[in-house]
Amino acid sequence: MKLSLIVPCYNEAENVELFQEETIKAFQGCGYSFEIIYVDDGSADATLHNLRKLHAGGKCPVKVISFSRNFGKEAGLYAGLQYASGDYISLIDADLQQRPEIVREMVQFLDENPDYDVVAAYQDRRNEGKVLSFFKKSFYRIINKMSHVTLQPEASDFRTFRKSVRDSILTLGEYHRFSKGIFAWVGYKTHFIPYTACQRAFGTTKWSFKKLMNYAIEGIIGFSTAPLRLATFLGSISGIAAVLYLIAVVLQKLFWGIDVPGYATIIVLILFFGSVQLFCIGIIGEYVGRIFEQSKNRPIYIAKEILLPPDET
Ligand code: UDP
Ligand code: MG
Repeated sequence: MKLSLIVPCYNEAENVELFQEETIKAFQGCGYSFEIIYVDDGSADATLHNLRKLHAGGKCPVKVISFSRNFGKEAGLYAGLQYASGDYISLIDADLQQRPEIVREMVQFLDENPDYDVVAAYQDRRNEGKVLSFFKKSFYRIINKMSHVTLQPEASDFRTFRKSVRDSILTLGEYHRFSKGIFAWVGYKTHFIPYTACQRAFGTTKWSFKKLMNYAIEGIIGFSTAPLRLATFLGSISGIAAVLYLIAVVLQKLFWGIDVPGYATIIVLILFFGSVQLFCIGIIGEYVGRIFEQSKNRPIYIAKEILLPPDET
């Protein structure tokens, strides 16, 4: 039995060596072999240099895939999955916020429960601000209402699954990748375990509020067409309102005559419907933009360097 650990790394020079040491320690005497697949996501620091050292050091089988630029964590996970050869596959961050000991527990669970295919960790306690927490909760509420897949709130990418799940995920070759949605979409019986994220070993988070917002929009657009229906909905409502207003105006004209010019009404109506139309075009634009990007059929990532263990080259 073999386990593949996929570790996306973006500017994690100080973390990768520590991660490797802690992982080897955590898996001592586990009774199965494991490989670590590091994906260097176009880091600007010494990450690749350190990964080359880990590969050459030979303490455990190491694969390194180095991107030609920063393609994002999602692309990194995809590349890692392509190179994973284990019977079990784990996704774990390089910053040791997610402990390798938990991966060992996940593997044990899958071993003891053959009818489960995935063990996913979710954060039971989060050390984050109220505003961010509110936005995250709202995101899950919205996407679960709009989409045909159900996302487990708080569930992270931190998970371990069988080879069959990996094969299924790889069949989804979409350019705009939203892992949480992809995991939910492929299905499989999933066991959720709580975990508390530790402090980052070194460095700072790569996720700004803006990046998180974009990621949330990616998720909603990628897994739901409900926003497109908003135009139909708003159009119908304003259509009905327009007919009612028309009747009112005709009656007013017939019985009382119209004495006010209605300047304000006209301006407000023009501005209101103008903005509703632009808003709806904007939504359609989000989808069209993604169709455009997908139709170009560009690769999800470009690897400039790939290091494999000596027996696999
Ligand atoms: N990461 C990546 N590419 C990116 C951003 C992040 O590969 O463009 C990696 C990063 O090196 C880390 C993991 O994704 O191993 C999670 O990132 P981070 O720790 O910044 O996120 P957080 O834990 O704060 O959610
Ligand atoms: Mg982190």
